[in-house]
Amino acid sequence: MEAWEKSLKNCITSPEELSGLFRLQGGAFSPVVERYPMRITPYYLGLIEEPGDPIWRQCVPDPAELDDLTQSPDPLDEERLSPVPGLIHRYPDRVVWIVSSACAVYCRFCMRKRGVGCASMAPAKVDDAIAYIAGDPRIRDVVLSGGDPLLLPDDRLAAILSALSRIPHVEIVRIGTRAPVTLPERITPGLTRLLKRSHPVYVNTHFNHPREITPQSAKACARLADAGVQLGNQTVLLKGVNDDPQTMLSLMRRLLAIRVRPYYIHQMDLVQGTAHFRTRVGQGISVMQALRGHTSGLAVPHYVIDLPGGKGKVDVLSGRPGSGGRTLLFTNYLGEEIEYPEPD
Ligand SMILES: *Cc1c(COP(=O)(O)O)cnc(C)c1O
Ligand code: SF4
Repeated sequence: MEAWEKSLKNCITSPEELSGLFRLQGGAFSPVVERYPMRITPYYLGLIEEPGDPIWRQCVPDPAELDDLTQSPDPLDEERLSPVPGLIHRYPDRVVWIVSSACAVYCRFCMRKRGVGCASMAPAKVDDAIAYIAGDPRIRDVVLSGGDPLLLPDDRLAAILSALSRIPHVEIVRIGTRAPVTLPERITPGLTRLLKRSHPVYVNTHFNHPREITPQSAKACARLADAGVQLGNQTVLLKGVNDDPQTMLSLMRRLLAIRVRPYYIHQMDLVQGTAHFRTRVGQGISVMQALRGHTSGLAVPHYVIDLPGGKGKVDVLSGRPGSGGRTLLFTNYLGEEIEYPEPD
């Protein structure tokens, strides 16, 4: 067993362990964990300095998750856009392939909260996914997602990458993973060798707070970069974690220093169970204003909203005021005008 697999066995998954560690009442966590699983790696747990801090908020269940019933579990209509279970084909030239339903840490704000860590979000069957991708010559970009693709053992990942490499129209593969942030020991020399022989491979990781940049996560990113992997970062704008312009500025600068190029800042999707993390669009615009011009252009990502109903991602800064009080009007990649009502 590899070191990272041992770390996974030593994760905190039960309310009792958590309340024992922090001398809290476990009762409040249990119903939350029954609905939305918890897993915290020993490494990520070690980054918590005190209850309620930005690391804690991302990984420790909050009873507020059960209070948010207004939104949909799947606002992006991913399930309707699945031609094969576990594949999401929304844009003609690229496809998202759910290869794993597990993650090292179950982020409390996850946009796939409806399924991560549960039997309900089964990964696509490799043969079915490969047959679908091979059958549509428009697909040139395959995004491996989940869950976390790097929770698969190397041999299963290798089988997927080599099957994709045999499809002539697939030009690039992207891997979306939080492993460098939550389980940095996963980035082993064996994994980097595998990625190096599977190029062109892009890795988008997911740092949300400057305190996640540590010697361990920096080393994981350095190993990937040394293997020729282009590293990007997707951040979610989260209340009480990184919705402060100076925190975000510091995160973006430190990412560049560990050779990770900021790619997206996501407005939180309207996913059930995550309302306590939601920020106003105006707050995100203030964050962007603190970046552009104030630091290297390389440190400035795109601030995007993934429009409900699978209408695609749009640049928030391209939004115009809509008719109602708090609505924004966007033109998506198909030229459709879409009104985005900001929820309360
Ligand atoms: C985000 C996303 C992609 C990739 O979008 P890019 O803007 O190319 O990074 C592809 N398909 C789906 C369904 C997505 O949600
Ligand atoms: S690692 Fe990604 S997919 Fe997994 S719980 Fe966190 S946000 Fe969701």
